[in-house]
Amino acid sequence: MTATNPISSTVPFDQDGEFHGFLSLPHSREDSAWGLIQIPISVFRNGDGPTALLTGANHGDEYEGPIALQSLAHDLSAEEVRGRVIIIPYMNYPAFRAAKRISPIDGLNMNRIFPGKPNGTVTEKIADYFLNQLIPMADIVLDYHSGGKSLDFIPFAAAHLLEDKTQEAACIAAMEAFGAPYSMTLKEIDSTGMYDTAVEDAGKIFVSTELGGGGSATARSAGIARRGAENILKHVGILDGDPTSDGSTRIDTTGGDCFHFSPCDGMLEMLVDLANDVAKGDAIARIWPLDGSGQKPADVISNETGILAARHFPGLIKQGDCLAVVAITQ
Ligand code: ZN
Repeated sequence: MTATNPISSTVPFDQDGEFHGFLSLPHSREDSAWGLIQIPISVFRNGDGPTALLTGANHGDEYEGPIALQSLAHDLSAEEVRGRVIIIPYMNYPAFRAAKRISPIDGLNMNRIFPGKPNGTVTEKIADYFLNQLIPMADIVLDYHSGGKSLDFIPFAAAHLLEDKTQEAACIAAMEAFGAPYSMTLKEIDSTGMYDTAVEDAGKIFVSTELGGGGSATARSAGIARRGAENILKHVGILDGDPTSDGSTRIDTTGGDCFHFSPCDGMLEMLVDLANDVAKGDAIARIWPLDGSGQKPADVISNETGILAARHFPGLIKQGDCLAVVAITQ
């Protein structure tokens, strides 16, 4: 017998109008024997047209996407839409409620467990529901990320290099339409199990972001996120009008040696800040020892010439942590 996913939606996907409700996932637990996990969802539909699927909190400690999507779900009306908009501000809802990157229920990272399992753990069931119910409805998917508690980023929208060059061009056009200050073409360190890959493998247009970090959002980063959602809806013709932008710098991490990892445990001193120019051979950071004073720090030297696009956020760092990403400007 094929396993069925127990998640059910309290909102319709094929009726015109504006609907706010939940994806309900039964979760029997110590403090609630017959309880549900209620994942908020809003659907706006007005006749035939493209479908956009907009998601935040794939990682639960990243806030620009959830803020932008709450604002959009509050402001949007079905009459201004042509087609359909599906908004899920808190994709990994248990992680979001715990303000954690990964789910506190099963310890799983939503963006590493696709395709999920219909009869698996909570995170696996959510992933399976996205893969088999939501992604098939979508023409374009926007999934917001930020650095969370451990990283901070310059604000960029991103598209992956893909084997299908027609699909890749559509993803890059949507990334540019988002209108972030930076636009990044990238290859992942390891794309296995990512939501991104699941959406791209389904042949859809996919845009993701990294808009800030440190486990909070700023007025600037939330504003970029909010405008980006509207720009994406304009780009595919769901909303009237043209995307707006203050200009976007193209950056790239697909070639070269852009990722820098900490050689040791210690206290982090950044020597350059986000968006600063970096030359190959420059010291990006020093790691000071934790177990004594008067000793020499370990220098971390840039392997590339570009700008500082990401950095480790907390003051302490461990061996093997991603310390910095130097992106190549185009
Ligand atoms: Zn993330």
